[in-house]
Amino acid sequence: MTAHQRRVLAAVCDTFQPSAGAEAGALLERVIGLIGSLPDPADRRRLGLLLEALGSPFVNLALAGRFASFDRLDREGRVAVLRGWADSRIQLRRAGFQALKRLVNVAYYAWPAADGSHPAWRAAGYPGPLPPPPIPPSGPPGPGRLPTVEIRRDTVLECDVVVCGSGAGGGVAAGVLAAAGRSVVVLEKGENLGPQDFTQIEGEMLSAGYLDGGLLMTQSGSMPILAGSCLGGGTVINWTTSLPLPEATRHEWDRRSGLTLFSGPAFAESLARVAARSGVNTANSDPGRRDQLLERGLRACGWHVDVIPRNAEGCVDGLECGYCGYGCRLDAKNSTAKTYLADAVAAGARIVVRCDVRRVLAEGGRAVGVMGTARTADGRTVNLTVRARAVIAACGALHTPALLTRSGLTNPLIGRGLRLHPVSAVVGTFDERVEPWSGNLQTRYSDQFVDLDAGYGAKFETGPVHFALPASAYGWDDPTRHAADIGALGRTGLVGILLRDRDPGRVVTGRDGRPRVRYELSSYDRDHLRTAILGAARVLAAAGAREIMTLQQPPVRAIPAAAGAAGAAAAEGALGAAGPAVGTGSADWLNEFARAVDGRGIDRCRMALISFHQMASAAMGADPRRGVVGETGETFDLPGLYVADGSAFVTSSGVNPMITIMAIADHVARGIAERW
Ligand SMILES: Cc1cc2nc3c(=O)[nH]c(=O)nc-3n(C[C@H](O)[C@H](O)[C@H](O)COP(=O)(O)OP(=O)(O)OC[C@H]3O[C@@H](n4cnc5c(N)ncnc54)[C@H](O)[C@@H]3O)c2cc1C
Repeated sequence: MTAHQRRVLAAVCDTFQPSAGAEAGALLERVIGLIGSLPDPADRRRLGLLLEALGSPFVNLALAGRFASFDRLDREGRVAVLRGWADSRIQLRRAGFQALKRLVNVAYYAWPAADGSHPAWRAAGYPGPLPPPPIPPSGPPGPGRLPTVEIRRDTVLECDVVVCGSGAGGGVAAGVLAAAGRSVVVLEKGENLGPQDFTQIEGEMLSAGYLDGGLLMTQSGSMPILAGSCLGGGTVINWTTSLPLPEATRHEWDRRSGLTLFSGPAFAESLARVAARSGVNTANSDPGRRDQLLERGLRACGWHVDVIPRNAEGCVDGLECGYCGYGCRLDAKNSTAKTYLADAVAAGARIVVRCDVRRVLAEGGRAVGVMGTARTADGRTVNLTVRARAVIAACGALHTPALLTRSGLTNPLIGRGLRLHPVSAVVGTFDERVEPWSGNLQTRYSDQFVDLDAGYGAKFETGPVHFALPASAYGWDDPTRHAADIGALGRTGLVGILLRDRDPGRVVTGRDGRPRVRYELSSYDRDHLRTAILGAARVLAAAGAREIMTLQQPPVRAIPAAAGAAGAAAAEGALGAAGPAVGTGSADWLNEFARAVDGRGIDRCRMALISFHQMASAAMGADPRRGVVGETGETFDLPGLYVADGSAFVTSSGVNPMITIMAIADHVARGIAERW
């Protein structure tokens, strides 16, 4: 980074977070560190160019009528320039704004100051990392980290089956095959984390347990993508919702793929088996305030609401459980690390962590193992080869297609078909405290809008909200209004919208072997999102929200009728220079809200979307024209190479995918064991 780029970036930090004060230097260094850790070199280059553009007086003159480098402008001028980028007609500029906002705000909110405190946390009443947890009713946490094999030098291992990736799919495949008496080696790129590693500092946990430190985006910059990357994969950091693939989708998948698997009894047995081993239950689904509000609003509307089954046992609810999305310190979450991988180790499987599988080895037209690199305990990189009779790719729906492509497979469907379940939300400010960071992770859902057309639509759920999500997803008017929005977090509830996307994007593997995600919302899926946004606003209003806000740029703010004239006046006062809210407590507020939502638009970088679920990028199908793998999970291109993760989905599942992925892995692994 040049000295000029640094100065511009420092001014950007000061514009987003003027109250960083004495921490401003540390904030700048952290943002520079995050830019340096961006997984894609092209993204780092693009950010450099963005800072150059902001440093150009001519660009600032054209965009905001100010002829000066960004760092020479007064604060008002800098806000005007950033708003110019944020609301630009040009998508690239909006994406640039979103990237800077996300980096600076996440760097600011997700770590405490050197003394452990944080002014924004204090203002919102957020406690930050909690004292050591109480001993759960089920007894003290288990032994913690699983035993792994330490690799010290170039190494060759031999086994029956090598499993690449250890998440929902890989963990189950390893457990099932090891229990069936096969010798199994599991290779996992991430770290081996246990309850003692879960610091509850968001920034630290994103870096330690998430794919690419949580910084991955679609190529256009329109959607951040979150996925787990550690031993146990997504199941260690996910929100424990354990819903089976709906009956109608099971039939749809068979119709589309020409298979008979999903609607048949064997798959039903796989679903039941993985739910049983994962301890799925509804006894640990007491709603916290966040989910109580969701339920209250849904019931007031007379709409569908039900309890979410979860793969967690011995939850204590309250504050501690709200942090469990960054790893459960009570060890109450039945991740694959705690269940199937522990089973695998007990049956003799060997696990290697910090191992990046680079390619599948083939001889005589069959897969015979894999080669990759492993990082040693003292930080060296060594080669690791594993020779095996079968290879299971379970690197998740972004990295499995990249592994297949790096290994020379050429089926043109590899990477195509990717679905992301785009998530947005409508948030509401309440008079009462909600503390959306607390309470069990997800305990209530609604299928009211789940079938808007041909089985496609949206599910309503909530989720634990700490600071990283709003830091990245909230729209931005100016620093004052942003600080007020974040300051109100303790009284904020939300309706999360999980879109079942019909239309796919694509994973493209670059010449450097890295996967890159091309994905935009189609107009078909956008219409469903719009309908769901209006429904979510009604739920929040019915639950008693005073003010309702979309995650658009800039946000649409509405004051629902129930808030009445007094509520409208209070909210208007608080809005100040951010401009009036729509609705203002009138009976017609929802129509006004809808018009404002349409006015802003919900396409690329105008609406915050985020993907927690990646699926269907190496789909199962009856033949190579309809899929990358057949009903057994074996690739058509290379016998002996199987896929057993979210990549194998036929389309999006429409429900949180973990249990479906586990069932597919159970089916694939059992098939391998039985055929041998
Ligand atoms: C915050 C969050 C909350 C979620 N909540 C829920 C929920 O409540 N319910 C639900 O059903 N789903 C939830 N999900 C989604 C769910 O966790 C994932 O869909 C699921 O874990 C995906 O399983 P998988 O086996 O396809 O991949 P993953 O679980 O992502 O596992 C893939 C593993 O492969 C490793 N890997 C990648 N490349 C390589 C390589 N080259 N070599 C070696 N290892 C590699 C990765 O590090 C990773 O650990 C959530 C996801 C997130 C991010």
